[in-house]
Amino acid sequence: MIKLAKRFGFAALVVAIAALAAMLPSVFKPSVVQAPAGRPALDGGETAGAGATAVAPAHQGGVPILMYHSIGWEKGNDAVISPERFAEHMAFLHDNGYVPISLGELDQYLRGARQLPAKAVVITFDDGYRDTYEIAMPILKRYNFRATLFVPVAEVTKRLTWDELREMKAAGMAIASHSYRHRDLGGLPPEVQAEEIRRAKVILDKELGQDTKYFCYPNGSYDAATLKILREQGYRLAFTIEPGWAKPGDDPLRLKRIWMGNSVNTFHLKERLTREDYPIL
Ligand SMILES: [Zn+2]
Repeated sequence: MIKLAKRFGFAALVVAIAALAAMLPSVFKPSVVQAPAGRPALDGGETAGAGATAVAPAHQGGVPILMYHSIGWEKGNDAVISPERFAEHMAFLHDNGYVPISLGELDQYLRGARQLPAKAVVITFDDGYRDTYEIAMPILKRYNFRATLFVPVAEVTKRLTWDELREMKAAGMAIASHSYRHRDLGGLPPEVQAEEIRRAKVILDKELGQDTKYFCYPNGSYDAATLKILREQGYRLAFTIEPGWAKPGDDPLRLKRIWMGNSVNTFHLKERLTREDYPIL
């Protein structure tokens, strides 16, 4: 504006401002019209499910699966996200119309049996820290957000009780398997891997009264034997730490996720939710 004034004089600037002011109503108009139109499509997409096949999917063509670990303060460890930053992330999702979906819904979408809201997202937590219960759960409850917690069963009872896990489940957090002892599975003898995977499922099923179908590889480590064992044991989805979105046609046992660390501010979060080729920090 200052440059413009120097070149054309203040009379021209006044004309330019008047012209801008005249444009304002038309600038605001589309968003006013679009906002109510966008909402029903979101809700409809969620409730219509597989029935709404005649319409082209409103969805962007991939689901970002957010991967959180611990929430707290730990200098130099990006896996530990501060409570303030985590709260910012959840507020961003809420304020921008993102819809956290369950892994059952993700499973159906990946197999082409369900359409999703345009801004579907999956929220996951690894390892079962106390802060998932103490800090994350109340914030998720505030927004009525669904999320999934992957627990290494032998470790988790040192941090959380089964009653607390049951409380989390009742609050909308699915509890899934992160193996028994959190060992790197890739390269382990297949029978050892099978036992790590089986034992975790038996205990989760019994304690939580469920049929555990979702698995997360400890440290992202797996090999061909791991995939075979998961298939044999009836697991439907398994999660890696490879970056990217989840899309129909992906191997459901090798799903990519998006790192959510303390370095991920709301600008980076937005980038990760809107660009599959988001820059890695
Ligand atoms: Zn882990």
